[in-house]
Amino acid sequence: MSKATIVAPSRQQFGSPVFDELGMERDPDNLYLQTIDAILHAAEILELPHHVQVILAQPKNEIMVHFPVRMDDGHHALFKGYRVQHNNALGPYKGGLRYHPEVGLDDVKTLAALMTMKCSLVRIPFGGGKGGIKCDPRGLSETELRRVTRRFVSAIASQIGPDVDIPAPDVGTNAQVMAWFADTYMNITRDKESVDAIGVVTGKPVEFGGSVGREKATGQGVIDVLAEMMPEVGLEMKSSSCSVLGFGNVGSWAAKLWAERGGKVLAVMDHTGAIYNDQGLDVFAVDEYVRQNRGVAGFEKTPHGADAITEEQFYQTQVDVFIPAALEQMITSEKAELIDCKLIAEAANAPTTPAGERLLLERGIEILPAILCSAGGVTVSYFEWIQNRSQVYWDAERVDEELNRHMVLAARRVQLARHRYNVDLRTAAYIAALDAIGKVYKLRGIFP
Ligand code: NAD
Repeated sequence: MSKATIVAPSRQQFGSPVFDELGMERDPDNLYLQTIDAILHAAEILELPHHVQVILAQPKNEIMVHFPVRMDDGHHALFKGYRVQHNNALGPYKGGLRYHPEVGLDDVKTLAALMTMKCSLVRIPFGGGKGGIKCDPRGLSETELRRVTRRFVSAIASQIGPDVDIPAPDVGTNAQVMAWFADTYMNITRDKESVDAIGVVTGKPVEFGGSVGREKATGQGVIDVLAEMMPEVGLEMKSSSCSVLGFGNVGSWAAKLWAERGGKVLAVMDHTGAIYNDQGLDVFAVDEYVRQNRGVAGFEKTPHGADAITEEQFYQTQVDVFIPAALEQMITSEKAELIDCKLIAEAANAPTTPAGERLLLERGIEILPAILCSAGGVTVSYFEWIQNRSQVYWDAERVDEELNRHMVLAARRVQLARHRYNVDLRTAAYIAALDAIGKVYKLRGIFP
């Protein structure tokens, strides 16, 4: 992964021929089409059979529901929910549940397709799914959030299940939401007595069927991948610096685990502001502060040592590794111009726009793609699902060790594909993922 081997994306034109065949638009600004185009580009290089490319171009199921919920003041509000099931050739659909005001069908489709790739890349027996509710969870009381969750579960209960489709936390949801989700499903499913029903969601609290290590798993996976890949660009974590965009579940854990390994976190930004310390932020104190204040803004007034910086200064901070761990498409070409690092580890899903990516690669900045970097969460979700089914619960050491093994092997698969096909790391990751899916389609054939 030395700089000399950086390969810019080889696609010149947007839009696979499959788009025309399926009557899909050719809108290069549409995130779903961008994602599928990149996947199909990798599929072409791999010479994946045409019919498999066509199947992967669209999700198997797109479920949209509207449901009323009584709010605390007595009025009823109507909510819109989504569950997209992209592909289940490898096993039940698996993917997070997002509560956010901007959730829309195309985002959910994109994230579901990425989950198909992610699960395949880390070789866990799941397909790709994703869901969400268009709402602002910060503006809901706890009782409203619980009723919204329960009503959504009842709306989609017939389409999910521990053998069918298994949601998990994502932006705006957490272990508590997963506990309400599982409880609702267990109360309304036809097979109430089944001990397996609790496996309908992962990311549950440890006291209620969750796995130790799930909360930190995505951040930990990012660090496992970095530890494996950084030496190839001549970097070592303990003597390196990073900045982290987003300080929620993924960003805060990535930052804390980076610091635990001796690296410095120079800057952090979230939706409330950005902070900086040239000697390294006390990220454990930042974490504590964010839990109490719902954002990093104001941390500079605490005695822990930090300056408030602007968004532009945040992106311009000179670091070895930049970790985007907030939302999709935040690294536009304007931001890519500002970023000053050697390596980007995509902890968030799809954080880089195609234009941003082109610019970064041209500038010699490597990008470790999200389907690799952020696969730790779904990997430990898989461990949770195994534990729910077997009723045998693992200790933290076993979870850490198994997670590390999955992440390191996935990183090596990406490196191998990169060298074999001489492509950028994102295309290599898709190739490594599609290889497993292609083999399963060949073995299974297409029914009937
Ligand atoms: P989260 O809700 O816990 O945190 C999101 C963070 O992004 C918050 O710190 C928020 O302040 C920040 N943010 C939002 N808008 C921003 C803006 N405009 N500018 C700066 N910061 C902004 O979510 P999360 O679970 O940490 O997920 C983060 C990303 O990682 C998402 O892309 C998600 O899909 C992905 N991901 C999450 C998991 C998981 O296990 N939670 C697994 C894989 C991928």
